[in-house]
Amino acid sequence: MTSILVYALHYDGAFNKNSLGAVSEGARLAGELGGECHAVVVGDKSGLGDDLCASLGRYGAARVYRVEGPEGLAQPVVDAMAKIISDSGHRYALFGGGLLGFEIGAGLTARLDAGVCMEVTSVRVEDGKLVSERPILQDSSVSDVHYRSDVGVIIGRLNAFEARESGDAGAAVEDVAVEFAPHSLRAKMVTRGEQRGADVNIEDADILVAGGRGLGKAEGFEALEELAGVLGGAVAATRAVVDAGWYSYSAQIGQTGKTVAPKLYLAAGISGAIQHKVGMQGSENIVAINKDSNAPIFEFSDLGIVGDLNKIVPKLTEAVKAKKGS
Ligand SMILES: Cc1cc2nc3c(=O)[nH]c(=O)nc-3n(C[C@H](O)[C@H](O)[C@H](O)COP(=O)(O)OP(=O)(O)OC[C@H]3O[C@@H](n4cnc5c(N)ncnc54)[C@H](O)[C@@H]3O)c2cc1C
Repeated sequence: MTSILVYALHYDGAFNKNSLGAVSEGARLAGELGGECHAVVVGDKSGLGDDLCASLGRYGAARVYRVEGPEGLAQPVVDAMAKIISDSGHRYALFGGGLLGFEIGAGLTARLDAGVCMEVTSVRVEDGKLVSERPILQDSSVSDVHYRSDVGVIIGRLNAFEARESGDAGAAVEDVAVEFAPHSLRAKMVTRGEQRGADVNIEDADILVAGGRGLGKAEGFEALEELAGVLGGAVAATRAVVDAGWYSYSAQIGQTGKTVAPKLYLAAGISGAIQHKVGMQGSENIVAINKDSNAPIFEFSDLGIVGDLNKIVPKLTEAVKAKKGS
């Protein structure tokens, strides 16, 4: 049976969207391979109750390996996954991406002498094996990566895999005791913090209100924060404005920033450069506000508003407030 092992990251009593997407993708692929998708969770057992672990079954995990160990650190997860793979013979390890996914995936690759492909946006089954698809040359082309090693490691681009609930079945939860390597216990998580915009993490937000150089100045983001606030979303930005110091680097979307796929991406004063597009083109609905009707962003927007954002954004905010108040 060709099984896939997926790392699921949890914090604040929930699994993050990126991990749930990886579990869903693992389940889809394992189904096509005639195997099972298994998840591994590592942390303090008090925060990893049976119900929480079993809930990964709704996204397609047949089994969840629960490992008591330090939270939020890469090396203990490498130890745990290496042991589970060697004991249970998983053929592939899949990660949703993000910094921790990249670090664990790289460590596991070295430990198992495995083949790895990073920044994967799609995976398919060919002749009973997985083939990873990875965009190259500034996303203008896609390369296929085949695995020749015993274990293949797939590290997705952040949010590349969609979280899909596939049923009500809970996953079987199995406790696994792992002896961590001495070096894996040398680091300690002191505190975990998140930079949030409008109180929502931009990688998990369903709605993003993004601003570009068309805002004119740093203070232009205040109107976007207000709109994001009433919509229950978060604020994102282009590289041009974070480089200019108008907004935080953690909010940058694009080739050298984050990749997001919210339900709604509202782009205000953004031209739509290819390096920005690659980070947000997976959004379900793209709405652009730009005063230039020839701006490239309109070529890949679902809805375009030609006009001055300084007039349109406050009106939108008022309209949403009025609708919510009614
Ligand atoms: C190697 C490399 C990596 C890069 N990585 C990234 C990346 O990760 N992310 C990223 O975003 N960029 C990245 N860039 C930069 C990218 O090429 C663009 O320069 C950048 O995205 C442009 O940002 P912008 O849309 O805010 O600004 P601009 O391109 O200057 O666009 C501003 C837009 O605002 C409109 N506008 C102006 N005033 C108003 C108004 N009052 N109302 C409405 N619209 C208005 C204008 O018509 C214009 O279309 C990268 C570049 C390179 C070379």
